[in-house]
Amino acid sequence: MPRDARSFGGRYRAAGLPRRVLRVVFLGPPGVGKGTQASRLATERGIPHLSTGDLLRATVAAGTPLGREAEGYMRAGQLVPDDLVLRILAGRFAEPDARAGFLLDGFPRNLAQASRLETMTALDAVLSFDLPAEVLVARLSGRRVCPVCHSVYHITDHPPKVAGRCDRDGVELVQRPDDRPEAIATRLAVYAEQTAPLLDYYRARGLLRPIAADGSPDEVAARVRAALPPP
Ligand code: AMP
Repeated sequence: MPRDARSFGGRYRAAGLPRRVLRVVFLGPPGVGKGTQASRLATERGIPHLSTGDLLRATVAAGTPLGREAEGYMRAGQLVPDDLVLRILAGRFAEPDARAGFLLDGFPRNLAQASRLETMTALDAVLSFDLPAEVLVARLSGRRVCPVCHSVYHITDHPPKVAGRCDRDGVELVQRPDDRPEAIATRLAVYAEQTAPLLDYYRARGLLRPIAADGSPDEVAARVRAALPPP
């Protein structure tokens, strides 16, 4: 999009031209609720929600050699090697819908990924979410997902109508292998060691927008909206 199409987004939209480009990263520990917020915002702004966790799970489910390589790391709660994640992400980035902007959820996860991303695109904002560790553990260990439609539940905070069954399709809910206690501990440690340094990295670039992640999903969504330029 030409430069002035971005600066004069309102005028261009009035003429039926595309909305302002929004390129945003959601950063935060596992269990903080960024996936939920990411899919809401992506729908609101009409931009693709690029979750490297979802892309990797789809690759694992497809049983490709790449998926088989990633599976062991994911099950253990470790990061998948950078090259593999970058190969998957670059393929998705090249699709035409990502030109109108994107929301990256779960990428970058370390400094090497952040500097690779910098060579691929500019960013408008990095939203960082945080919650106390005990809240994260409670959220992750109670999470259950539908293996068919991917709806997400929580055994106490957001239970399905019939225990253990998806409200939408009645399928038996499952626990993600990396939501078991050993993997949760590893994921939180990996976040603290490898991903948390990205907060300073993006703060230094003037891109970081901290978002309080406590409260209802609607309250958090309002904070997300307030932290971003209007559509
Ligand atoms: P998530 O759904 O974001 O919690 O990701 C699930 C798992 O996928 C992580 O625990 C990692 O094993 C892997 N993963 C997701 N994104 C990345 C990434 N950017 N770099 C390396 N591994 C990743």
